[in-house]
Amino acid sequence: MSEKTKAERALELGKGVLRLAPAWVPRSFCVPGRRIKLHPDDYYALGSERGGLDERWFASTTPADNGPLTAPNEGLSFIVYEDGGRIEKVLLRDAVQELKSEVIGERLWNNFQRWPMFSKFFDNMGPLPHHIHQRDEHVNSLGLLGKPEAYYFPPQVNNHGGEFPYTFFGLNPDTKKEEVLEVLKNFTKGDNKILNLSRCYKLENGTGWDVPPGLLHAPGSLCTYEPQRASDVFAMYQSLVNDQLLEKEMLWKNSPKDRVGDYEYLLDVIDWELNVDPDLVKNRFMRPKPVRTPKEMETEGYRENWIVYKSNDFSAKELTIFPGTTVTIKDSAAYGLIMVQGYGSLDAFEIETPTLIRYGQLTYDEYFVTEKKAKEGIVITNPSKSDPIVMLKHFGPKNPDLK
Ligand SMILES: [Zn+2]
Repeated sequence: MSEKTKAERALELGKGVLRLAPAWVPRSFCVPGRRIKLHPDDYYALGSERGGLDERWFASTTPADNGPLTAPNEGLSFIVYEDGGRIEKVLLRDAVQELKSEVIGERLWNNFQRWPMFSKFFDNMGPLPHHIHQRDEHVNSLGLLGKPEAYYFPPQVNNHGGEFPYTFFGLNPDTKKEEVLEVLKNFTKGDNKILNLSRCYKLENGTGWDVPPGLLHAPGSLCTYEPQRASDVFAMYQSLVNDQLLEKEMLWKNSPKDRVGDYEYLLDVIDWELNVDPDLVKNRFMRPKPVRTPKEMETEGYRENWIVYKSNDFSAKELTIFPGTTVTIKDSAAYGLIMVQGYGSLDAFEIETPTLIRYGQLTYDEYFVTEKKAKEGIVITNPSKSDPIVMLKHFGPKNPDLK
């Protein structure tokens, strides 16, 4: 059966709702925080040379870039469907390429010819280095796209905060460019002390941050839901993190070949105004905002909040369905969703939130809803007498519902 036929079959059987298989991604430089529900024996399922599994990618049509050992399809979401008792699989990427606007809608297909975002949980025991994602102007010549991202910290996957639940953002407002140049030049001399030029914020469950490209950031150790543009460009500007040194190649990652060794270039990658913004918290911090009047939603049996709403490249909502209710939820755009609490049904599908997942096991906790289906509405039933259903929904660029 061709990929196109499989994609058509999945769409037909799911009536516009596509069930997705978990996409686990290892990172060789990180220690898993063990909050993404993998079986404890499976965090190193890919072997020591690949590192621990500390990420799960959602609604992804973007392959992971993990160097020469990267497995085929690593980071890509598979659609799974049952057809005559058989389990069939097709990549979400292939389904979008073959069925185009039928999956993501005219608006996104005409603008991007692909699904231009994905989301993930990243789950690290310790902090990550102060790093930066380049803007379009710095990587377009390499055939790459700049990368905005955003964070939300779901309480359901944060029963502990890890070793360092604080995140550095940007630079102190009075930082001088010469000071940054000096720490960059000190990259190979042990700790380059770039964090001394930055500020740190205590991370709070149930809130988030907007991280445009060009903004330095050193993520803390909360398990993080991270919608992002479909791109994987970065450069590490901090040389020592958690007593581990970084190789100098990490400083020059995704720099054009003829700029390697040019520290002024690295300075130029920093969006200076954004980094020294004295109102950084006001401008980048996100507390959830109700999508409609809370009273109206509560009368209908649910609550829905914008949790990521400051980027043009993606947005995200948290949807809560109260126990013992059935609701119809409409959206104007296609989206992926991941369950974080409860069980019930979503149209003809079961939905549930597993406690423990073996590596390679299929689940009923992740779906993709086509634009057409999102507009018609999906029916969600919560049969529990006490437990809410909570799911996180990730959308592509310029969500028409986000005013
Ligand atoms: Zn980042």
